[in-house]
Amino acid sequence: MPEIKFYNRAPVPMEMHKVKIVQKLTLLPVKERLQKMYEAGFNTFLLHNKDIFMDMLTDSGVNAMSDNMQAAMLRADDAYAGSETFYRMQQKLEEIFGISYLLPTHQGRACEHILSQHLVKPGNCVIMNYHFTTSKAHITRLGGHVEELVKDEGLVTKSNLPFKGNIDLDKVRACIAKEGADNIAYMRLEAGTNLIGGQPISYENMKAATEIAKEHGILTVLDASLLQDNLYFIKTREDSMKDKTVAQITRMVADLFDVIYFSARKFGFARGGGILVRDETLFHEMEDYITMFEGFLTYGGMSVKEMEAMIVGFEETMDLDVISQGPQFIAHCVRELDRLGVPMVTPGGGLGAHIDAREVVSHIPAEQYPAGSLVAALYLCGGIRGMERGTLSEERNPDGTEHIASVEMVRLAFPRRVFTLSQTEYVIDRVKWLYDHRHLIGGLRFVHEPKTLRFFTGKLEPVSDWPEKLMEAYIADFGADQ
Ligand SMILES: *Cc1c(COP(=O)(O)O)cnc(C)c1O
Repeated sequence: MPEIKFYNRAPVPMEMHKVKIVQKLTLLPVKERLQKMYEAGFNTFLLHNKDIFMDMLTDSGVNAMSDNMQAAMLRADDAYAGSETFYRMQQKLEEIFGISYLLPTHQGRACEHILSQHLVKPGNCVIMNYHFTTSKAHITRLGGHVEELVKDEGLVTKSNLPFKGNIDLDKVRACIAKEGADNIAYMRLEAGTNLIGGQPISYENMKAATEIAKEHGILTVLDASLLQDNLYFIKTREDSMKDKTVAQITRMVADLFDVIYFSARKFGFARGGGILVRDETLFHEMEDYITMFEGFLTYGGMSVKEMEAMIVGFEETMDLDVISQGPQFIAHCVRELDRLGVPMVTPGGGLGAHIDAREVVSHIPAEQYPAGSLVAALYLCGGIRGMERGTLSEERNPDGTEHIASVEMVRLAFPRRVFTLSQTEYVIDRVKWLYDHRHLIGGLRFVHEPKTLRFFTGKLEPVSDWPEKLMEAYIADFGADQ
């Protein structure tokens, strides 16, 4: 459903489902939230879920299942080898993508591990529209390097371009000329480009880019983890595709690639992953890695119950009503905050709404983590948990200085089918309040800084008593009980 029309008011996004099972939420009083924030070292990853009102950290593994997904879990066929569940999964994926060779894995990064382990040699290059944290880490660990060839305008935060994830075809040609086709392990295109704000890539662009790769004999790989949002955007933003069904679009996209992998923590609304391989030889070459690192070839580290659920989830992904909901709620959130003057990444993409923290708290120096400070302040002022995507998520330069990120964002993820419109309105309201009180937000510094992936487990403290001042202002407006 593109959008339900209203008679007497501006349209709002609509939940195309009803609630059958619920989980109670609690909104701790602001004083307790301040204490929890100190205990978590001002790192939202270290908060306990029970202390959070709106958990917008990620869309990974926290999407709501449907009644049909839960029902399917009951018929899971428990077997170490030859589970009927695996064959059902394989069949469903073949029906959707037209590829029959499936390597099951425990999650998305496991696919990246196996692909790169098999295909990337030291000195090799992997062409991408943009990197994802885990995809890049696996390649660089093996001595390869990543060329991010997204169009320049994809990195402009405020924009009205429909497909900011598009790869720059001139840059692709230049890169192949410079590196030599033989040195390019593969071309990886990421649907719903995560780290630039869940921004889509057009069918036309994927087609043109993969054609160039094929001319040079370069393997083409699709990271389909966020494909469902991207399918919605192709259907609604790409004129030549608007009369195609979601299933037809999916098949057209799939036909462009030699390999398709996904995290089923996102694609399929469950938990797991898989690699689809068109070429039989390549498929058999990679089988060994599954038995070595994941599990037997008919479960790959996944629970068969989750596999049954995701089979139904894949089918539901072909339903426009289902895949519309995330992007429409995100669009509403981004549009409203933009209208209220809050600097946002526009247009809204899939995955979540992204606040441009460098603009919001421009008084906080990059070395004091503007996005990290803003995301901590947001938990304090509303019990909302977002994720820092900026300098704090980078690793330091070899000389110990900060590596300043190109974008400094707070991501408010919208797990699929989870939040209602009133909860979304609450988030909009608290973000606006915080924006109007942004001068009260101060910086952070590390008290415990791990060497790798410091954003997961590092602990920080405020550089002044700004959290207490911010709390006083909050209590003045909302009272101490919320
Ligand atoms: C989440 C994600 C991954 C990794 O998947 P996990 O299941 O979290 O390991 C890879 N690529 C993209 C684009 C993702 O969003």
